[in-house]
Amino acid sequence: MSGILIGVDLGATMVRAGAFTPGGEMLAVDQVEIEARRGPEQGFQRLCNLVENLLSQTALHGERLLGVGVGSTGPVDALTGVIVNPGTLPGWEAVPLVAWLEKYFSAPAFLDNDAAVAALGEYWMGAGRGVARLYAVTLGTGIGTSCVIDGQTYRGAGGFHPEGGHQVIDPGGPLCYCGAHGCWESLASGTAIARNARAALVKHPDSILLRLAEGDPGRIDARIVAEAALQGDSLARGVIGRAAEYFALGLFNLLMLFFPEVIVLSGGVMHSSELFMPALGRMLQNATPYLPTSQVDIRLAQLGYYSGIYGAAYAIMRRVSPHDLGS
Ligand SMILES: [Zn+2]
Repeated sequence: MSGILIGVDLGATMVRAGAFTPGGEMLAVDQVEIEARRGPEQGFQRLCNLVENLLSQTALHGERLLGVGVGSTGPVDALTGVIVNPGTLPGWEAVPLVAWLEKYFSAPAFLDNDAAVAALGEYWMGAGRGVARLYAVTLGTGIGTSCVIDGQTYRGAGGFHPEGGHQVIDPGGPLCYCGAHGCWESLASGTAIARNARAALVKHPDSILLRLAEGDPGRIDARIVAEAALQGDSLARGVIGRAAEYFALGLFNLLMLFFPEVIVLSGGVMHSSELFMPALGRMLQNATPYLPTSQVDIRLAQLGYYSGIYGAAYAIMRRVSPHDLGS
């Protein structure tokens, strides 16, 4: 199999794209601001210009473009190739991205949500390479989940992705934007960590958090809380410790439901993974007598910001050549 695969990661502020060989070698990568507020037509043109630049940069210029895969901030309809109505891309309601791409490039295109595509990237060339049953969790401002079985994204009825981040952990917990109380995301995400740290400041005016946030509580985010925790700040350690316990609880549920060989963790909060690993280790050791949970391997993602473009390229490769995998 020869030719060029394009993987695109369409985010709220940036669109990143990479050109790959079917063997997984990245030939070129670039990114531009999406300027979503200018509307989908202009954004689409920026995306196309970016891809065309990549194609002209690659040493394989002139080789056949096999297809364009896109992982996008959601929600998206992967079956119809339509961006539905993402709050993060205002004005991009019902954008038929796959149809537009296929017309523009005269090549097959594919669209899925960013968490699902990033998990495929880790399966193809990252921490979950070749793992038959892989569960991926992204812990950032929210919590994204995706289950990859033999290199295929698990989908629910109607092609919908299950929302592991909105499993309820504590019915008496804080209200989530999804309408439920005590979702995993509302207890363990970076947003929850920042919110809990700000709330706890009142009782702990001696915390170094305020100094790290240059005196402005509004600037406190999960990264700053993690930094304070690593410096031994008791407020920050308490907040992160609680979030880590909740994070372990959610992972425990997923473990009981899917029992994958490997769980791959990614996302901004995982830059401070050492603060979370002890709780995860305890969870694995004590999980249940019925499953050998201590054998489950929890790994950190390896591709960083590139997992989305790798995964998008892999997804389109699977679609155009389902019988020529891993070559
Ligand atoms: Zn929720």
